[in-house]
Amino acid sequence: MAESTGSYTVLARRYRPQTFDEVVGQQHVAQALKNAILCNRVAHAYLFTGARGVGKTSTARILAKALNCPEAVEGNPCNECHLCSAISEGNDIDVMEIDGASNRGIDDIRSLRANVGIRSMRTRIKMYIIDEVHMLTKEAFNALLKTLEEPPPNVKFVFCTTEPQKVPDTILSRCQRFDFASIETQVIAQRLKDIAGLEGVDVTNDAIDLVARRAGGSMRDSQSLFDQLLAFGSSRIEASDVNRLLGTADDDRLLKILTLIHQKQQGPLLEEINEAVSDGVQLGNLIDQLVNCYRDLMILRCGADSVDLIGVSSLQRETFAELGKQMGLETITAAMQILSEAKMRLSRVSHGRALIDLAVIRISQLENLESLSNLIADLKSSETGVITLSGTTAPAGLLTTNPRVTPALASQSPPAAPVSHSPPVADKNLTPQSGSENQKKKN
Ligand SMILES: [Zn+2]
Repeated sequence: MAESTGSYTVLARRYRPQTFDEVVGQQHVAQALKNAILCNRVAHAYLFTGARGVGKTSTARILAKALNCPEAVEGNPCNECHLCSAISEGNDIDVMEIDGASNRGIDDIRSLRANVGIRSMRTRIKMYIIDEVHMLTKEAFNALLKTLEEPPPNVKFVFCTTEPQKVPDTILSRCQRFDFASIETQVIAQRLKDIAGLEGVDVTNDAIDLVARRAGGSMRDSQSLFDQLLAFGSSRIEASDVNRLLGTADDDRLLKILTLIHQKQQGPLLEEINEAVSDGVQLGNLIDQLVNCYRDLMILRCGADSVDLIGVSSLQRETFAELGKQMGLETITAAMQILSEAKMRLSRVSHGRALIDLAVIRISQLENLESLSNLIADLKSSETGVITLSGTTAPAGLLTTNPRVTPALASQSPPAAPVSHSPPVADKNLTPQSGSENQKKKN
């Protein structure tokens, strides 16, 4: 991706954090590095790990500035002196950023080693920042190791990687490691709001929320998406613009699909899927969104109230909580399983459309597994033989159900005790085989 086109500099670059305090969502790392600088205990080599776009390289640059800025205050660089400016722009000859993916060979590391011993020209501390360090070849790592074993004074290394498990132990053991967290959706949303304000663009909260959720914890991804949206050039950006750009369904449509599935209205359900696809919603996106929606239903059904929703906006929280209660946990998890399988197959087949139709119909055929569990629990505990349907308030999970079971197999456990007033729905689902199996277990 080109970072700048013509005179336009992309948001991710313009709004890159310039001090430790500006690094969003990584306070633990920022605080530890500031303390190390203030106590003069900065390590020779650091390993920064974490998903892409969470601030690893930005933090490495800030560290380089903080170590060299003559005007630094409490561990933070001034960002005004010529050293700070040069490092911020990536132009300082003593702070080298190396892309491990394209400079992965032994020769690249040999030339690095040849230069390591040369005194820095302008800065006090010479720094090498190697991005995607896990891409280095085995020989390159060996050459690097020799430098790390006898690091020249005033040289520091920062290795950044998304895949620390691919970095040899010999290197890891010589680095101080910091794990960068994925950034919370709300934190990303707040940052996007700030940027929208600074850019003077009117963006609705729904649209911001959608971009933040879509970025999946990556600040850089959220800002790249935001860039694309701003390029639309409209005076006001709304959620529908985001959905059109991404090929995703809006919250109303997702809620409608979930409700139709739950109500087993299979005709209107297939029509709604059809309409979504003709409106430009991508099949893979739609499955992902539905999986995320069922995940949201699951966390609400489990009562994890402080966890963010990822499938829909937080405005839908109450509606989703109610829907989740009606569906029951076991149906929800079975639905997630069916959709995840459909997603895995999607890339390998040419009949993707049929797969998603099949998946939603299969989910709509699931009985409410949780209320069946409760029913069975009631039957078992009922000594008088009188059934009281407790709905969803009784503890769930008494029937251990494989989420992959088909509806017919899902309701295999029969009432353990003879019951005089069994409702027809329970009888209908009993099969003779499972009945005798359960009888055997009981005896
Ligand atoms: Zn400075």
